[in-house]
Amino acid sequence: MKVLVINCGSSSLKYQLIDMATEESLAQGLVERIGIEGSVLTQKVEGREKYIVKEAMKDHKDAIRLVLEALVDKTNGVISSMEEINAVGHRVVHGGEKYNKSVVINDEVKSYIEECFKLAPLHNPANMIGIKACEELMQNTPMVAVFDTAFHGTMPEEAYLYALPYELYEKHGIRKYGFHGTSHKYVSQKVAEVMGKDIKDLKIITCHLGNGSSVCAVKNGESVETSMGFTPLEGLAMGTRSGNIDPAIVTFLMKEEGLTADEVTDLLNKKSGVLGISGISSDFRDIEDAAYKEKVHRAQLALDIFHYKVRTTIGAYAAAMGGVDAIVFTAGVGENGPETREEILKGLEFLGVKCDTEANKVRGKVREISTTDSTVKAFIIPTNEELMIARDTLELISK
Ligand code: ADP
Repeated sequence: MKVLVINCGSSSLKYQLIDMATEESLAQGLVERIGIEGSVLTQKVEGREKYIVKEAMKDHKDAIRLVLEALVDKTNGVISSMEEINAVGHRVVHGGEKYNKSVVINDEVKSYIEECFKLAPLHNPANMIGIKACEELMQNTPMVAVFDTAFHGTMPEEAYLYALPYELYEKHGIRKYGFHGTSHKYVSQKVAEVMGKDIKDLKIITCHLGNGSSVCAVKNGESVETSMGFTPLEGLAMGTRSGNIDPAIVTFLMKEEGLTADEVTDLLNKKSGVLGISGISSDFRDIEDAAYKEKVHRAQLALDIFHYKVRTTIGAYAAAMGGVDAIVFTAGVGENGPETREEILKGLEFLGVKCDTEANKVRGKVREISTTDSTVKAFIIPTNEELMIARDTLELISK
């Protein structure tokens, strides 16, 4: 069984072909500049040189056609024919209130994904284009949609409702949905396995820290609280996103700075976060260099704010679950930033967790990073959203 995982953006597309017998990635690739001059496909296969195809791609259908050609290419491919692809798993950002599980794609599913365009205007339309392009090119291959929001479908009402007039929830679906669900689900299941425990007996806090960041409280295997909300803007300070602020700041900026609604949205999404504070970069490597090597105050401040928000969110989620057994770090910064992990855990000793500085000096590996006398354990668990999507896809098409 081989599953092709597609993560389609507006002008780019990531893909991975996974052999489900071994759960090994056979090939992974990225198509960039779809519909723009300079389109390029880059495919990586373990132990081989990168395979690069520079060819005009006017739309996503062209891009997917090239992906399939790259996978079956005689010298650079990994399969002999398209028929070897048993199913396609699509990452879809928003599944609204209806889909709290992955689903086999049919007309009803597609029209609901379209209904959710207003909730995820940047992502769902692109995801849909990918689905339609695959359908046209692989007419007999079953397809599954795996939603970023789905894992959080188990949050209780008191966690997902905002204290706004209830009618706004009824009319517009204004509530917390949460994102990064596929990643939170994967790392929480993986850490239970690493701990040799049943996830049903565990309270886990997963910290997905990348360009976009979110924390999730996973109780008995289910998401009960998460930091992103109606949109991925809520919660932690991120690369360029503000995270939580006093909502009154929005109207203040409109009045005092004369900004339009779109300009405020842009400011909060693209000019804030650690970029806005440091004035240097949204990339943690640049900020860490400036803070630790050059001792730039605002770079240090950006990091301090980031660590503080993650730390206090962990504290809040321990309260949400009435305790915590394990804290997990994942994604770009969570997997690769020993300083970040240590700074976040510093101050959480009262919960029963202590960082083992030596064990923590590692990047991108499954590793326990708490001391042996910690009653709450801390781990690095590299995320694997593609594998999670492929597993759901296989499970659904096998039914
Ligand atoms: P995305 O949200 O786009 O998927 P990633 O999970 O890839 O983001 O995370 C990107 C972030 O990870 C960047 O800010 C980058 O600086 C950070 N990162 C990657 N490698 C390292 C590293 N070695 N040390 C510190 N931060 C790193």
